[in-house]
Amino acid sequence: MHIVRHPLASATPGTTHELVSLHYGTPGQGPKVTIQGSLHADEVPGMLVAHHLRSHLDALEAAGRLRGEVVLVPMANPLGVGQWVLRGFQGRFELHSGENFNRHFVNLTDAVLDRVMDRLGADAAENVRLVRGALREAVAALGASSPLESLRKTLLGLAIDADVVLDLHCDGEAQLHLYTTPQTWPGDGQLLARCIGAELALLAERSGGDPFDEACSMVWPQLAERLGPGKPLPPACMAATIELRGEADVRHDLAAADAQGIVNFLIQRGVVAPEGGVPPVLPPLKREATPLAGSIPVVAPTGGMVVFLQVPGASVVAGQPLVDLIDPLTGQVTTLGAPVDGLFFARDLRRFAVAGMSLGKVAGREATRAGSLLSA
Ligand SMILES: [Zn+2]
Repeated sequence: MHIVRHPLASATPGTTHELVSLHYGTPGQGPKVTIQGSLHADEVPGMLVAHHLRSHLDALEAAGRLRGEVVLVPMANPLGVGQWVLRGFQGRFELHSGENFNRHFVNLTDAVLDRVMDRLGADAAENVRLVRGALREAVAALGASSPLESLRKTLLGLAIDADVVLDLHCDGEAQLHLYTTPQTWPGDGQLLARCIGAELALLAERSGGDPFDEACSMVWPQLAERLGPGKPLPPACMAATIELRGEADVRHDLAAADAQGIVNFLIQRGVVAPEGGVPPVLPPLKREATPLAGSIPVVAPTGGMVVFLQVPGASVVAGQPLVDLIDPLTGQVTTLGAPVDGLFFARDLRRFAVAGMSLGKVAGREATRAGSLLSA
């Protein structure tokens, strides 16, 4: 393993930040996997899973079991980890710009087409090789004058040519779930869900807002669409955002199991040789994937105290009471019901609401939402 330190653009004289990446295996030999923890800096479970993964990868490399390259970014947001305001950890939005750290990753489709359109041909494998080269060039050519732009460029540079990208996040209070694209289902997305024991997978091609995972994966089908049948291009990058339960679920037993699940996925994908040549037996899929457009938020119509009536993991029917909103001055209780039949899989960590706030999410089977599908 070798460590690479990436200095980020500085905002002001006298201040510097750096991103640190750990590199296992040999670049160019076998599949490449990039795994990053806690791009939303206050979502600590990702960093702890990366900590456990590091021990696995050290041991696997020492045992000669790596068949590919693994890039591990154990703390993907060195800017956000320092954002503390009045004793509160603010790791989701950059304080300077107000931008969500996991949005606005650039779509490189046009930049890649400009570079390789004339050179692509009938050989799909050669096309993948050429597109990967063009993706690397396109990221290197991105401007990045602010620390935030510099962070996004550096993260994209570590992942844009990978076969597999795993972005480790968490929700407020939630079951283990993941977001990925319909192209991976059934396929690598489903395999990942089984390996890590995900309770739910939410599928979307364009969730809106340009998150990191989609910038890595969706460029491939978008390119293929523009190339047409004479120039075949497979979807060569599978990317997923894994939501490692809730913010407070920072526990060694959970992180150890999650890291082992990811290693099992790497074995299935041929990045790690199985111990004794026998791949581990995988648990069955816990739940069929549902559309992200069918995940419906429970929105507070007024402010007030929040008393949940269901825990994450409850199967609910439309109208079933989920949460009481209580006005402490009038004593009025507003009970909010489930917006749809489905799985109540995540809820907010806070217990006082302001009007318009999303208090939780129910995953239904039917896609009923349009536009931007992610929360702010
Ligand atoms: Zn997140």
